[in-house]
Amino acid sequence: MKPESIRNVAIIAHVDHGKTTLVDKLLYQSGMFRDADLDRLAGGQHGLILDSDPLERERGITILAKNCSIRYPSNDMGEVKINIIDTPGHADFGGEVERVLAMADGALLLVDSFEGPMPQTRFVLQKALEHGQRPIVVINKVDRPDARPDDVVNEVFDLLVAVGAEDEALDFPVIYASAREGWATTDLEEGERKDLRPLVDAIVANVPPPHVEPDAPLAMLVTTLDHSEFVGRIAIGRVSAGTVHTGQEVAVIRPGEVAERRKVQEVYQFEGLARTKVDSVGAGDICALVGLDPIHLGQTVADPVTAKAIDSTPVDQPTLHMTFRVNDGPFSGRDGKYVTSRQLSDRLKRELLANVALQVEPGERPEEFSVSGRGLMHLGILIENMRREGYELCVGKPQVILREIDGKTSEPMEQLIVDCPADVQSSVMSLTGSRRAELLRVEPKAGAAGYVHMEFIISARGLIGLRSRMMTATQGQAIVHHSFHGYRPIGGEIPGRAAGVMMATETGRATPYALDLLDDRGFFFVQPGDQVYEGQVVGEHCRENDIVVNVVRAKKLTNYRAVGKDEAAKVRPYRQMSLEDCLEYIETDELVEVTPKAIRMRKRTLSASQRKRQSRRA
Ligand code: GDP
Repeated sequence: MKPESIRNVAIIAHVDHGKTTLVDKLLYQSGMFRDADLDRLAGGQHGLILDSDPLERERGITILAKNCSIRYPSNDMGEVKINIIDTPGHADFGGEVERVLAMADGALLLVDSFEGPMPQTRFVLQKALEHGQRPIVVINKVDRPDARPDDVVNEVFDLLVAVGAEDEALDFPVIYASAREGWATTDLEEGERKDLRPLVDAIVANVPPPHVEPDAPLAMLVTTLDHSEFVGRIAIGRVSAGTVHTGQEVAVIRPGEVAERRKVQEVYQFEGLARTKVDSVGAGDICALVGLDPIHLGQTVADPVTAKAIDSTPVDQPTLHMTFRVNDGPFSGRDGKYVTSRQLSDRLKRELLANVALQVEPGERPEEFSVSGRGLMHLGILIENMRREGYELCVGKPQVILREIDGKTSEPMEQLIVDCPADVQSSVMSLTGSRRAELLRVEPKAGAAGYVHMEFIISARGLIGLRSRMMTATQGQAIVHHSFHGYRPIGGEIPGRAAGVMMATETGRATPYALDLLDDRGFFFVQPGDQVYEGQVVGEHCRENDIVVNVVRAKKLTNYRAVGKDEAAKVRPYRQMSLEDCLEYIETDELVEVTPKAIRMRKRTLSASQRKRQSRRA
């Protein structure tokens, strides 16, 4: 296929704005799949094509970039192949966003016709603009009765201005669509509502063909990696010069380094949702290469004679680390299949094969590992995946990674964006103020009356624990988003957790009677019937110090049959803590215990008497 007939387009969308539905329908209408095939590929669940990972749905972001492609007979230039490049939706994956965007020549910004653009898409959009991509704005779900497409177009315009778009990008083409009903139009009033062709035509007309050199010696930058047990690492990228074919001798090289010789064993192309084995892939198209392992992101697969390396965005350096260790609590092995340090170590080694921003080092003790990553989200996703696979582990408090820069100890800083109703603005300000955030701007939020938009620079240390507090302080009304900003000389202290915790004194089931008696001490993370053990953090104390409490005490039975307090006890609200809430909550002497069925917090040292001895020694 000639480069002129290829379009590489990145898709930027907030979760639920209809990306999956749109891509589904595009594939369907291009005749690449019958419905049955789509269903089979989506595991029987229609509408889970691009976002196949259940975690992605829950978190509302795309974690892994995935590609797919469609072929369309275009009106004036024969068949066109459109590669749709999915972009990760979170700034923890900033490096990946950059690399993935480098494969595209244009971007689709997909926005819900009622909700309008969301701050989570801002980061990726900004990066796309930096890559010189002029977005095509797709206002989706215009069939919604509450659709307000004109306002949303204006909000997109304001957002583009806010992220520094140039005039050309501000003059963006707009397509109105109902992905669900399978049509798109350039004109809401008069346009035909038949199929998605107007969108495809807009892509062909507005996204330039890849700027590549088909007749030059081979060059392909490795943009993403995949891994298979049988063939090892698979290198994925866009061919930017020449052609790559099966059996070809190539050089694998990075700028300024010596080339290594390898042989390409298999070449794959993206067709629909699948990869098909082909003899060769030419400049402009995206391909997957087998047989180059060991291969790394940012390396170039090049012609062995010229061996010219392409510059690329470096892989993001980790900013946060946590200790992972075996679950040595009294309930260890009750829920999980994999609990030994050997199993943990093997699993982490496997993760390293494709999770490039992750680093794993031995911990202080044999059963501990120091795991570093891009942020709470990046590491949280790994932990959540592990527990779903049947692993049990304990995780320590997240710590930021400091660096020596120009002789000064420096810490990672983040750009923080908060959108919230004006009446809770002061709570947000006082929270961010106490964590030494520097306010960059405050303004009314474009398109949302009564909302304010705030931007800060805050240390990554200050960010840990901020999100959950912000949610409490704003009754969940704030939309919080952050992205890596850079390193700065380390700033002053950040206040830790203000309150002490309540720890269980013994193992058993929490009773309503005991929880009721302790009602005035604070609030609980457990509810009646939950299994607890000695040293488990079961609640937050209303004062600064930690206390031990007996939550398993049952009402003494008497000979008289009376309405027991147990039955009469009120149902108390308890605070349910997610994995990330717990990670943000704990202090250095505590751990989060993660099993397939439970997430608990505990003291590192479970026995109260041992804790006392330790604190006396300290
Ligand atoms: P994704 O998270 O961006 O991939 O979003 P999905 O494609 O999964 O869509 C999210 C929800 O929006 C689903 O319930 C879809 O049925 C619905 N949806 C998608 N497109 C449309 C549309 O054009 N109109 C309406 N009314 N709903 C849509």
